[in-house]
Amino acid sequence: MNTVSKNMSLINYLKKSGFIKTKKVEDAFLNVDRSLFVLPQHLDEAYEDKPLPIGFGQTISAPSIVAYMTELLEVDEGNKILEIGTGSGYQTAILSYLVKERGLIISIERIRELSEMAYKNLEKLSLYKNVKLIVGDGSLGYEEDKPYDRIIITAATPSIPNFINTQLKNNGIAVLPIGTLDEQRLAIIKKDEFGKIEIHYDISVIFVPLIGYYGFKLSNDKTN
Ligand code: SAM
Repeated sequence: MNTVSKNMSLINYLKKSGFIKTKKVEDAFLNVDRSLFVLPQHLDEAYEDKPLPIGFGQTISAPSIVAYMTELLEVDEGNKILEIGTGSGYQTAILSYLVKERGLIISIERIRELSEMAYKNLEKLSLYKNVKLIVGDGSLGYEEDKPYDRIIITAATPSIPNFINTQLKNNGIAVLPIGTLDEQRLAIIKKDEFGKIEIHYDISVIFVPLIGYYGFKLSNDKTN
């Protein structure tokens, strides 16, 4: 099977299992081939529905969770999105495709080498023009480009960080995994037109930790 057929069968599985619900998210998956974002030694597993190591103890998320979170985010063309946890850049690429040229993705990663790898991965698809990659502590959000239409955190977060309230636009949506190091629930936070916040907790997930000021403090982490 060639890569296009392998990607098609992954997409069919994601649709059948209910992770991909809309045509626009399906189109994004058709145009963003996951094999461009995995390490060479994991190429033969690129279309399997599981997280894979990307170095530095971090992972590219499973396609099903990327699809599921993207659907929850209800991305519109032209949106300005803050993403915390760039990793391989796979989720970034899906979002970049969805917001098109008028939109902007600001994606923060704490590990410089991963941010640089993500840039090279995004370049392969020419999806870097509406993406701004930042190296830093995303647990503080990113004041410079606020407010955001959408915010997504792809690392386990101990509690809802303060910046969600102050940096999310009215009528905005944020999706993030909240919980312990062992298990989290996906939180969907919606701000209405008056700025009132509603939080809904969805499925259980397991992410690598958000490490930083409003994240987890790991004892062996020298950056905290
Ligand atoms: N969405 C990514 C992808 O598609 O490859 C996977 C993200 S990975 C599960 C989580 C990422 O969050 C890791 O790359 C990790 O280094 C990063 N991270 C952890 N704490 C962070 C912080 N405070 N600020 C920014 N990035 C952080």
